[in-house]
Amino acid sequence: MNHNHFSRRDVLKASAAAGAAALAPRLNAAEPSELLIAPFRFDVTPPVGHPLCGGWIKPAVDCQDELEAIGFVLLGAGQPIVICAVDWTGILNEAHVAWRTAMAEAAGTTPDRVAVQCVHQHDAPFVCLHAEKLVEEQHDGLEVVQLEFFRGCLDRAKRAIKVAIPLARPVTHIATGEARVEKIAGNRRVQIGPNGKVGKMRGSSCRDAELIALPEGLIDPLLKTVAFYEGNQKLVACHYYATHPMSHYGAGHVSSDFVGLARKQKQSEEPACTHIYFTGCAGNIAAGKYNDGSSEARVQLTQRIANSISGAEKSLKRIAVSRPTWTTHEILPPTNPVFDPAKLSESLANKKNVAANRIRPAMTLGWIDRVEKRTPIVLSALHIGGVSLLHLPAECFVEYQLRAQQLAAGRFVATAAYGDGGPWYIPVKEAYPQGGYEVSVANCSDAVDDILTSGIRSLLGA
Ligand SMILES: [Zn+2]
Repeated sequence: MNHNHFSRRDVLKASAAAGAAALAPRLNAAEPSELLIAPFRFDVTPPVGHPLCGGWIKPAVDCQDELEAIGFVLLGAGQPIVICAVDWTGILNEAHVAWRTAMAEAAGTTPDRVAVQCVHQHDAPFVCLHAEKLVEEQHDGLEVVQLEFFRGCLDRAKRAIKVAIPLARPVTHIATGEARVEKIAGNRRVQIGPNGKVGKMRGSSCRDAELIALPEGLIDPLLKTVAFYEGNQKLVACHYYATHPMSHYGAGHVSSDFVGLARKQKQSEEPACTHIYFTGCAGNIAAGKYNDGSSEARVQLTQRIANSISGAEKSLKRIAVSRPTWTTHEILPPTNPVFDPAKLSESLANKKNVAANRIRPAMTLGWIDRVEKRTPIVLSALHIGGVSLLHLPAECFVEYQLRAQQLAAGRFVATAAYGDGGPWYIPVKEAYPQGGYEVSVANCSDAVDDILTSGIRSLLGA
């Protein structure tokens, strides 16, 4: 932990990086509170024809509602801190480093002080640059991401941050709240056979009466909100909930889906506050128990999330702002030994395979390449008063956020997962022998459990 005092120089440096002009008067006004927040947003909607979910479902036909990247820069806690949620399926390996580097450059900070977390909708881009390169080399029309679009998003990111910083507002206090979410989350791995193996799985939508009837299983029922205020004005509200966010997908209709639609509803009700939605540790959590995949179900799920956000906001309790700290911890878990690079390359090259079974191996090869290059995953957390905002990679099982809350008992821990997506699913170690879909596409070995857990422990100072 480093307790950094706010200094004029930090803001001026960030401001210089942002090419800001009229910062000085704001800065004077802000000095007693010592902390400034600069919310930003920009469009990340892919063009028609762009691959969705990394290229193994129908590409974009049209846009039902825009995808956004929404975040904020915090100034006055040492070098600037950037936290951002992106309406994409995932951002993996080099692509994640590229996002953090671009945002860091624009904010005048270092990439380890930038957290980029995906919301994980599926009618949305899913980006691994290494996989795109491997797929392109096949010369048969497979595509993961269009690089021009990807670069355009990074340009918009930089512009949005540079415009936001000079408009930063002082933070006088923060507040936390939470509400139970009714009838959304259910565990996907609810049917364990007598052999100890996962049987049929309850996906993000489900019409199998037997699976629907099974209990919710292990979930985190709480939607948590952390809000930043200037006096009575709520400036930024961050909402956290752990579920796969898909009601239905696969027909090419780009959408921020039910969690994004709920966020947009809150945003239109409260235009002066920036609402941000983060997906928690939802690797084994989805809405299948309560979602038949119909368009009516999308409306219902949207309303349930919007109601829970309202409930969490009604329960908001003020907390004085202490000097924030930012902690980081690097991990590089070993590759799952079931993956053989030669076999993965064969699957990728086999034109008889469906796109998913060619692109997924390419993404696993992307992970293997990353481990060879020793590029670590950066875990991070922002601590203010009794609150910790925790940023974890990929598709962590819900156990990790429940564990984080236990490790930091007495603190309000809000967890955003789906940061660097390189590892794909991150099961807990007990889940590996049970098998099931998530385990079959977990790029790391079961050693990831101890490595990630001790990383979380060190971030939370537990
Ligand atoms: Zn997923």
